[in-house]
Amino acid sequence: MDMSRDKWSQFGRQMGGETGIMRLMNDLGRAMAGQDRMLMLGGGNPAQIPAVQAVWRRRMGEILADGDAYDRLLANYDTPKGEPRFIEAFTAFLNRQFGLGVRPENVAITNGGQFAFFCLLNLLAGRSAGDAPRRILFPMMPEYIGYAGQSLTPDTYRGAPPRIEFRDAHRFKYRIDFDRLEVGNDIAAICLSRPTNPTGNVVTDDELARLHTLAQAHGIPLLIDNAYGLPFPGIVFADARLTWPAGSVLVFSLSKLGLPGTRTGIVVAPEPIIEALVAMNSVISLANGNVGQALVRPLLEDDDILRLSRTAIRPFYEAKAQQALAWVGEFFNDGLDYHVHCCEGALFLWLWFRGLPISDVELYERLKRRGVLVVPGSYFFFGTGDAGPQQHECIRVNYTQSEATVREGLVIIAEEVERAYRGT
Ligand code: PLP
Repeated sequence: MDMSRDKWSQFGRQMGGETGIMRLMNDLGRAMAGQDRMLMLGGGNPAQIPAVQAVWRRRMGEILADGDAYDRLLANYDTPKGEPRFIEAFTAFLNRQFGLGVRPENVAITNGGQFAFFCLLNLLAGRSAGDAPRRILFPMMPEYIGYAGQSLTPDTYRGAPPRIEFRDAHRFKYRIDFDRLEVGNDIAAICLSRPTNPTGNVVTDDELARLHTLAQAHGIPLLIDNAYGLPFPGIVFADARLTWPAGSVLVFSLSKLGLPGTRTGIVVAPEPIIEALVAMNSVISLANGNVGQALVRPLLEDDDILRLSRTAIRPFYEAKAQQALAWVGEFFNDGLDYHVHCCEGALFLWLWFRGLPISDVELYERLKRRGVLVVPGSYFFFGTGDAGPQQHECIRVNYTQSEATVREGLVIIAEEVERAYRGT
């Protein structure tokens, strides 16, 4: 039997081949399984926060103690739309706390935010009925690597380079470059993560409002990925509000609440989009995982999810981020042309080594040989023409591991970067 790749379908070659996200997940998996001794500053795994873990243990105990609730949970398929009581609780929570005006008809559950985006991006973009290509615009690259391989149609992504705002000698922030942002007739949706993975940027409320105005002017949805954002896990250190601009799509996830193993995503969108998602979900997944929904529902009903996010999750990550930034300042030679993106949320530091004589991928390989796993920045610049030399001069560093791991990792990164600049 000939199983060579060139016999595979277009779908098989694309989705079954090596992608950035697959390489990342494999490196992550190997490091977590302890096959290599690695300082794991690569993936997006949330930290284990004792106060948060205690809540999920307590909830599991409550489910186990609640008659046959546990047996029913495991023995029954969820519906492709999601558990009705969870959707009720989530809808009421959003309306009570944020006045979003969401109805249960506007909500669907998916097996993770990642799967929600696979469905949404392919629902909106690709070949339209008239065969014209419809595309996704990422208004500020770099963006989440996980979107990169998801489109089933080639040449579907457009990414706009950012405007760079220098804050001080070693600090900068990307801004949406509205002067150069073009929304052509081929654009089917605008999509961004907030906070942004990989940079830790939080697109401001004003920038978001301007994007929404643009989307409305073109009659297309704005997709906002809140995987790290509001209202939970709330890993946001800058001022930001949660809104549901008319016609837009919000995607939430339980993963960064410490529940990535439950694979639970939540989508809020206009009804036709939700109906399509539910249909796609039933064809591709049949049903959703229900454990995450069962664990979290009571915390939505009594708003405790907000308390947990604000008093346990955000402060934990903010302290870690501040510590990591302080170490960068300490370990990196001040004379180097290095720049760190303002860390306004998410789990990452985005480091830019301007004029670095080696590529980001070469730096990644050198760091891996020294037992430090990061992610090369160029993976996050998909869908762009030329974003300039910085496309090959950045790395993403996860700052959430133990103090010893992050500290040692940053010491080694600083050494390798200095060697690279010196050409030794
Ligand atoms: N969106 C962003 C920006 C992410 O970083 C991730 C995962 O790290 C996801 C979506 C997908 O999350 P999940 O599928 O675990 O809900």
